[in-house]
Amino acid sequence: MANAPVIVIGAGIIGASTALWLKRTGHEVTLIDKGEPGMGASFGNGCILASCGVVPVTTPGLLPKGPKYLLDPSFPLFIKWSYGPKLLPWLTRYLSHANDKDTRRIAQSLSQITGDSVEQHKALTAGTPAAKWIQESDYNFAYPDRAAFEADAYVWELRREAGFVPELIEGPAVQEYEPALTPEVSLLAINKNHGFILNPAGYIRDLVTLLQEMGGRFIKAEVKDFDLSGGQVCAVDTSEGRFECSQAVLSAGVWSKPLMQKLGINVPLEAERGYHVLYKEPSIQPKSPMMIAAGKFVATPMDQGLRCAGIVEFGGLGETPSKAPLALLRRKVQETFPNMRAAGEEEWLGFRPAPSDSLPLIGEVGSSGVYTAFGHHHIGLTGGAKTGRMVANMISGQPMNLDMSPYAPNRFAGR
Ligand SMILES: Cc1cc2nc3c(=O)[nH]c(=O)nc-3n(C[C@H](O)[C@H](O)[C@H](O)COP(=O)(O)OP(=O)(O)OC[C@H]3O[C@@H](n4cnc5c(N)ncnc54)[C@H](O)[C@@H]3O)c2cc1C
Repeated sequence: MANAPVIVIGAGIIGASTALWLKRTGHEVTLIDKGEPGMGASFGNGCILASCGVVPVTTPGLLPKGPKYLLDPSFPLFIKWSYGPKLLPWLTRYLSHANDKDTRRIAQSLSQITGDSVEQHKALTAGTPAAKWIQESDYNFAYPDRAAFEADAYVWELRREAGFVPELIEGPAVQEYEPALTPEVSLLAINKNHGFILNPAGYIRDLVTLLQEMGGRFIKAEVKDFDLSGGQVCAVDTSEGRFECSQAVLSAGVWSKPLMQKLGINVPLEAERGYHVLYKEPSIQPKSPMMIAAGKFVATPMDQGLRCAGIVEFGGLGETPSKAPLALLRRKVQETFPNMRAAGEEEWLGFRPAPSDSLPLIGEVGSSGVYTAFGHHHIGLTGGAKTGRMVANMISGQPMNLDMSPYAPNRFAGR
């Protein structure tokens, strides 16, 4: 199928970026999504290009603390208990990585993808209308006090090793710098050279429009299966019929799992549910995106208002939002920005694609011509531009100055 296009499945940030880089490197490209572009996890995330976001959730302290966190209604970790039995095999594997050696290995591998995020997004959009969505900024971590900051010393050590050393502001200087914040925040760790996307859905829509203007296709259809001939992909079967391809890229976020099963690989991939509340026309806005350490949510001054996003909830792909996580998020926002008023509020539930080892799957499945580009967990927006470029380079046979072995999809084969 040499003249057939490369088919990219899923038009989130990963698929949109991959399709665009493929087109730029001279391929015919068809991007397929079961819905409109940018309406999955990429729609409602915290918008942050978190280059320093290299530390997985599974740090060494998690195992002893996990049960306590789950039972504490003011901690932003939730589980739908009826989902527990389904979750258990994944959770066992996930928690097995909560040790120093694995955490350092994961952080090192994630930093290859996140480290130059802003430059990668700029390269993706240079000279195009989509560039307008990228905002360079600091990315600040707000702590109640120095003791709370020091309690995170392990995480900061890993960030430092990845090249991110924060500047600290303490005492009343915090509110002088960021007047929106409650006086209860008395330490701000400022990370320079970060950025955010002013509106991720608008950004992805522009990327897909650009693809079409360059001659790529976008088709609305649900991909059901791969068609292999002699072990090589030659077409995908969809709700709208069969489409021939030379290669395929699977970038369907958390929904990639069933399609990987069609290729005989059972990826331990869970939906890590997360939420946002968007405060429209807020009376005050922070000047830079912030991670509020006490509430473990990010607050980002995006173009639609103040978006506060976070919460980890395990409970599968059910579309119904849970009340308790949203109530907690709202309470933490109120505590952090006590003087903020808004003209309106919107809620959103989304699904982070969470592989059990916290590393995305980027690479070819055997020699099938199907490439994976999913499983970016908390850093998909951050690493989306670079991942697309990596996949396009792989398909084009261009050498990469990166160790790709940590992301190999075949690490889950035969398990
Ligand atoms: C609350 C929250 C906050 C977050 N904050 C940040 C942040 O600040 N910074 C950051 O970097 N990351 C953040 N993330 C993570 C980030 O949003 C994800 O990692 C990223 O969006 C994943 O992108 P994706 O393209 O892989 O998947 P998605 O955006 O989910 O896209 C997958 C697409 O595949 C399509 N699809 C699925 N199945 C099929 C099929 N069979 N056929 C055709 N199409 C299909 C879907 O319709 C969807 O459009 C956050 C996530 C959440 C939930």
